[in-house]
Amino acid sequence: MNRQQKAELAALLGDGVRWNVSMARHSTFRAGGRAEALADVNGVEELRDLLRWLRRSGVPWRIIGRGSNILVSGRGFAGVIIRLQGELAAVDLRHEPDRAGPGPVVIRAGGGCSMARLLAWCTAHCLGGLEFLAGIPGSVGGGVCMNAGAWGQAMGERLQGVEILDCDGRLQRLAADALRFSYRRMEVAGREPERMIIVSAWFGLQRDRQAEIVARCRDYLARRRQKQPAGVASAGSFFKNPDGDYAGRLIEAAGLKGLARGDAMVSPRHANFIVNTGRATADDIAALVAEVQERVYRNSGVRLEPEVHIF
Ligand SMILES: Cc1cc2nc3c(=O)[nH]c(=O)nc-3n(C[C@H](O)[C@H](O)[C@H](O)COP(=O)(O)OP(=O)(O)OC[C@H]3O[C@@H](n4cnc5c(N)ncnc54)[C@H](O)[C@@H]3O)c2cc1C
Repeated sequence: MNRQQKAELAALLGDGVRWNVSMARHSTFRAGGRAEALADVNGVEELRDLLRWLRRSGVPWRIIGRGSNILVSGRGFAGVIIRLQGELAAVDLRHEPDRAGPGPVVIRAGGGCSMARLLAWCTAHCLGGLEFLAGIPGSVGGGVCMNAGAWGQAMGERLQGVEILDCDGRLQRLAADALRFSYRRMEVAGREPERMIIVSAWFGLQRDRQAEIVARCRDYLARRRQKQPAGVASAGSFFKNPDGDYAGRLIEAAGLKGLARGDAMVSPRHANFIVNTGRATADDIAALVAEVQERVYRNSGVRLEPEVHIF
């Protein structure tokens, strides 16, 4: 950004913009290059103005949620990284059928709302259906974009619709049947996912007993603790599972558990987790990822594709 663009952005967002920010502090990997600007946006109007300004000025941008499935490369990101906060991270009730009536209870959650907050809200309101998200450290927007899921369930299945802002600042509500969900991916016909922001999402849930919702969340969390490395920085599963197989199985079969580049390591506990054992840089992670891809290909003929979005 040139000096004038910086001044315009500062005038638009005030305290909401920070400069030259290490993205290691905003990613669960605790690694990543610097963003030229990190913009926290609190409302739809502010976000619309920002997107229109970005369009006019040609400054590159990306949206992130909780940074649990991204890696900003060592070069850094020359442009604006946007996060949703305030009213764009709230949850509220949209439609409640009569107590005896059929049909789901519909809630709306802002794109910036964390999964943890969404689940706590659902539990407090005795609404079941999203418990499978327990332990996934993302946001609603990131979860919908990635079609996050676990234990045979995924976010797309509970979704009734989304509200999106496109890069021209147009707000649109799309029903679930306008969206296509596949493994760790959401598509909207005719649109590039990187060019739109999920402002909010509607979910259809069932009333349930609070104790049962809590028990299901605890069960999922306990299962997670058994399988995944705990207390170490990562972005969850790094590679997508190829059709009919598991990335973790292929990495283990290539003998790569424990392989390290700097402080980036293939977790000895779960081979599809690349973990940051201390001060790994984005370059360490990228070097390790390339080596894992190469050695798995040599061993099994399968090219592993990252699930983590790298930019
Ligand atoms: C310990 C651990 C365990 C995990 N377990 C699971 C699991 O069981 N299942 C699973 O599916 N994932 C899992 N993940 C990965 C991750 O938590 C999910 O993919 C999550 O949904 C990402 O959400 P986020 O808000 O952190 O997105 P980010 O990582 O911030 O972003 C991911 C992508 O979503 C886009 N995005 C974010 N917000 C928006 C928005 N509002 N509008 C449009 N696009 C947006 C970003 O541009 C980026 O391309 C795990 C991660 C960790 C660290």
